[in-house]
This record gives sequence, structure tokens and C-alpha cells, in this order.
Amino acid sequence: MCLPGCMSQVRERLEREHTTKTTHTTTQTTTQTTTQTQPPSSRRARRGFLKQAFLGSFAALGAATGVALSSEALAMEEGKAREEGKARKKRMLRRGIRKVVDLTHTFSPAFPTYFGTTGITLNKIADYDKVKYNLYRYEMLEHAGTHLDAPLHFSKDGLSAAEIPAQQLIVPLIKVDLRAKAEQNPDAQLTVEDLKAWEKKHGKIPPRCCVAMDSGWGRHVSTKKFRNADDKGAMHFPGFHAETADFLINDRGASGIAVDTLSLDHGPSSDFAMHYAWLPQGKWGVECLANLEQIPAKGAVLVAGVQKFEGGTGGPTRAIALM
Ligand SMILES: [Zn+2]
Repeated sequence: MCLPGCMSQVRERLEREHTTKTTHTTTQTTTQTTTQTQPPSSRRARRGFLKQAFLGSFAALGAATGVALSSEALAMEEGKAREEGKARKKRMLRRGIRKVVDLTHTFSPAFPTYFGTTGITLNKIADYDKVKYNLYRYEMLEHAGTHLDAPLHFSKDGLSAAEIPAQQLIVPLIKVDLRAKAEQNPDAQLTVEDLKAWEKKHGKIPPRCCVAMDSGWGRHVSTKKFRNADDKGAMHFPGFHAETADFLINDRGASGIAVDTLSLDHGPSSDFAMHYAWLPQGKWGVECLANLEQIPAKGAVLVAGVQKFEGGTGGPTRAIALM
């Protein structure tokens, strides 16, 4: 999610949080120095993120491209991730990519946005009928349409969209079916229990994967139900519960999460708890995915091709699933 001006609020909030956190651990630290000091957790997250860059998606990358991987790379993978990566690579090399699903909505000025403002304004500055070529100049919200939230979106010094290594954006993709729960309650949240229920059926969540929430909300994209705002303006759609962040980061080592709604947090959230629990840890998230009903619960590879603007806090993304 995003709104012009909201980043200043986010920054203030983050600085407050950093202040609180650092003051908690070093009681003598003053507010002034705290806000100027890079938080250790953030530094660790940034280092860890970069360190994982090559490792992170090697299995998925190999599987998706059929590129022969070096023995050093293989040596760097550990445990189950290695075994799963090898198996996946073998399968894909043997049979090739059988199916490609575009998980991206077509973006337009009419596309719903988190704050209800227009996401993109297009001005045609060259017309084929007149000059024999077409060209637009456009102005758009950074976080609108199918797009990626970079760590920098909700942290002071996290990686920008341009700094996320490309290898980290090609990852195994799993899908958690939240449709029944969302049908009953539009404010439903994907919980640790939902993730454990998925694991009972499909096995352990693979490390460095992207976990996608399929709430069925993608089918509402052309209606008011997508934002589902009430009389007071509060929105009602599903999202990730903030408690899943700790589980996915520390117990499963996931790289990204994705939703078919407007926000990683569920609609009524006013504190963006999941955004704050997830993105500052060097993780990314994709919002407004389409066509999740066309991919399996496991076995797909996600290519999250976010635009590479310098300093971008995220941006429009062509999300593609390979199977
Ligand atoms: Zn966003």
C-alpha cells in the first residue's frame, strides 16, 4: 500500500519504533542519537539479505532456466533445500517448463488502490496516426496495481527495489488457500495455524520461498468488494497475521510473501503490523496478485520482476509463475 505523504508518517513511526527498541536495550541512549543510529537488527537483516542473495533462489533459478549450476553453488546449499532444489531442477530439465501463469493484473487508471486515489495517469505524447509511433508519459503511485514492497518501504535503510538481487526474486512459490476462511470473514488473517495446516498436507514450507495467500479476492478486482470499504472508510479484506512473520523468517527462512489483496495486512489494520514485522527484516512482499487459482499449492516458481528504479521502495511488478 502507499499514498503520497504516507511515507513521512511511516518514517516517523519507524523512527519512533527504532527509538523505543534501541532505548529498550541501551537505556542510556538518547533519542537524538538513536534516530541517527542504524538499528542493529536492520543492519543484520541487510547483511543477511545480501548474503542470501545468491543462495536464496538458486534452486528455483536452476529449475526455471535450466542453467547448469556450479558444484560450488551446490556445496553452498544445505539440507532439505538442496535436496528439493536438485529434485526440482531435475524435473524441470527433464520435462521443461510446462506451464506459465501470469499473476499480474492489467493496470489502468480505473484499477483500485489502497487509498482509493487514481494509481496512474497516462498522457499520450506521440500518436502513431500522426508521427508513426506511440509513446506515453505517465505518472503513477509507486505502490499500485500488482507490485512489490521492498524492505525500504517500511524501514529506514532497508534494500530498495533496485538493490534486491535478481536471484532473490526468482523463488519457489507455495500457495495457501484461504478462500473458505475469507468467504466467512472478509477480515480473515492467514495465521501460523494456517501455515501448519498447509504443511500437514504438503510438507514443510521450503526455505527461501514465497508464500502466497489465495483468499479468492482477486476475482473482486473490478468491483467495490475489492476495497470493501465500510461507511467509515475502513476496508475489509484478508491479509497475513503479523505472528506469521516470526515463524516464516526464523523457523522456515522464507524470502517473500504475496497476497491477492491490496495489502500484506488485512483491510482493517491501522498499524500495518505485518508490514513492520516483515519488510524491515530484509524481506519483500507482492500485493494484488492475479490468477492464483491457476497455480498449485506447491511446485511452482515465482519470477517477481519488479521495476528497478533507483531508491524505489517497491514498484510495479510483472509476477509470473512457472511450472
Ligand atoms: Zn505496496
